[in-house]
Amino acid sequence: TLQSKTAVVTGSTSGIGLAIALAFAKEGANVVINGFGPADEIEKIRAGIESEFGVKAIYSPADMSKPDQIAGMIRQAEETFGGVDILVNNAGIQHVSPVEDFPAEKWDQIIAINLSSAFHAIKAAVPGMKKRGWGRIINTASAHSLVASPFKSAYVAAKHGIAGLTKTVALEVAGNGITVNCISPGYVWTPLVERQIPDTMKARGLTKEQVINDVLLEAQPTKQFVTPEQVAATAVFLCSDAASQITGANLSMDGGWTAK
Ligand code: NAD
Repeated sequence: TLQSKTAVVTGSTSGIGLAIALAFAKEGANVVINGFGPADEIEKIRAGIESEFGVKAIYSPADMSKPDQIAGMIRQAEETFGGVDILVNNAGIQHVSPVEDFPAEKWDQIIAINLSSAFHAIKAAVPGMKKRGWGRIINTASAHSLVASPFKSAYVAAKHGIAGLTKTVALEVAGNGITVNCISPGYVWTPLVERQIPDTMKARGLTKEQVINDVLLEAQPTKQFVTPEQVAATAVFLCSDAASQITGANLSMDGGWTAK
C-alpha cells in the first residue's frame, strides 16, 4: 500500500500516465495529476480520483517544456502534501517524419518534453526525497530507449537519453533509499499511438490496417498491444518493498520486441 505517500505523475490526463495515477490512488497515495486537455474533463478526472479512492488529488497545469513550471509543480506538491515521495516522468509526445524533413522546432520540443523535463523534475524532487530517506523515481521510457525505428529521430534520441539519465541518477542516490528506474513499453494502445497512424501511413505509403498489423504489431512477437494498466501495475510494483533493490533498471514490457 502507498498510504500517506504522495505521487506526482507528469502527463497523466491521458493514456499511460492516467492509468498510473489511478493505480497509485487505488493504493492510497495522494496524487498530483498533470497534462493538457479540456478543463472540465481534467476536473472530472481529479474529482473522480478523490471520490473513488478517498485520497487527495490536485492538478498541476505545468508545461513540461518549461523548466520553471516543472520546478513550480514539484514545489506546489511539496507545499500541499509535505513532500514528493514518488515521481513518474511520463509526459511525452511523438512526431513521425524522415530526418531531412523533420522540423527543427519539433526536435527541440520532443527533447524538452520527453527528456529534459525528467531532468528538471528529478533535480527539484531529489532534495526532499534525500531528506526523508525514501523515494521512487520512475521514467516512462520505451522500447525505443533500446532500439530504433525509422522516422522517429527525436523520439528515439530522447528515449535513449532517458535510459542514460535513469542509470546516472540511480547511482547518485543509491545510498539514500531512492530507486530510479525506467519502464520500457512496446506499443500501448493510447491516443499517442493512434495519432501517429496517419503520418506513418504517409511516410510508408500504407493503409491504416497495414500500419497496425505490419508496422506496430509486427514489432511485437506476441502480436498484442501492451495495456496502460499493465504499465501501471509495474509502476506500483516498483514502489513496493519487494522492489527496493531494483534500481538503475530498464524494464521492458514489449511483447518480446527487443528480444529479437
Ligand atoms: P498520451 O498522448 O495518451 O498521453 C501523453 C500525456 O502527456 C497527456 O496527458 C498529455 O496531455 C501530456 N503532455 C503532452 N505534452 C505535455 C507538456 N508539454 N506538458 C505536460 N504534459 C504534456 O500518450 P501515452 O501513450 O500515454 O504516452 C505516455 C508516455 O509513454 C510517453 O512518454 C510515451 O513516449 C511513452 N510510451 C508510449 C508508448 C505507446 O505505445 N503509447 C510506448 C512506449 C512509451
